[in-house]
Amino acid sequence: MSSPIARNVLIVGASRGLGLEFVRQYRADGARVTATARADDGLAAIAALGAKPLKLDVADAASASGLAWQIDGESFDTVFYVSGVYGPRSAGMEPPSVDDFDAVMHTNVLGAMRVLPSVADALAPPVAGQPGARIGVISSRMGSIGLRNGTSGWTYRASKAAVNSVLKDASIALAGRAVCVAFHPGWVRTDMGGAGADLAPEESVAGMRRAIAALDASRSGSFLNYDGAPLAW
Ligand code: NDP
Repeated sequence: MSSPIARNVLIVGASRGLGLEFVRQYRADGARVTATARADDGLAAIAALGAKPLKLDVADAASASGLAWQIDGESFDTVFYVSGVYGPRSAGMEPPSVDDFDAVMHTNVLGAMRVLPSVADALAPPVAGQPGARIGVISSRMGSIGLRNGTSGWTYRASKAAVNSVLKDASIALAGRAVCVAFHPGWVRTDMGGAGADLAPEESVAGMRRAIAALDASRSGSFLNYDGAPLAW
């Protein structure tokens, strides 16, 4: 089975960092790209790359409820949920404030629980020889319980463990229609990853694009490194 070329792509959370790099690379390949941001500067950055910008704050119920009608009639073959915040940079078991906890969970988890059902009716139908549309949720190795080696940022870790569960449920609910995976993007030089991180966004995103294009149905519901290698949940 040959890997399909992404032709109609949705990137959620594309104002900067990994999301904007997905937009850049898919546009460079000639794909039609719709991408979301919550503020005007992000919408402008998306439009400057020739993609269609949509305003979306995944942590805002009213904003998120508008996504389904904004993409009504679309037929996306590839979708990435990228939006994320790190929250408190706690070194150990310091309880987060309710506001900090809500901000992290609402963006990283509740946002995905809003966006994934909204895109379900805007997925390209499966074609012969292909397993369906492809959905990637950008999680983090910090969310892995099996690979846990520290407690720093435990609110963020909990949120990524939770979104891994959300992704798994989506892979079951959308079986036969979409192949759904969670990605660890690597430690990447973005605003979140910082200047000292290992990877350039170009390399991380190129790896995830290759990995998602190469998926078959048997790998739906798995957790992958940016280079396609399987990770423990
Ligand atoms: P950035 O901080 O550069 O970008 C985060 C993105 O999330 C921005 O586009 C931001 O938009 C968006 N976002 C935040 N809150 C909301 C919201 N309420 N609604 C919509 N969009 C929102 O980080 P990265 O690009 O590095 O991170 C992308 C993803 O990768 C995240 O999920 C992160 O957890 C994950 N990740 C990153 C790693 C790294 O090393 N960089 C490592 C592991 C995982 P805005 O500009 O409006 O704030």
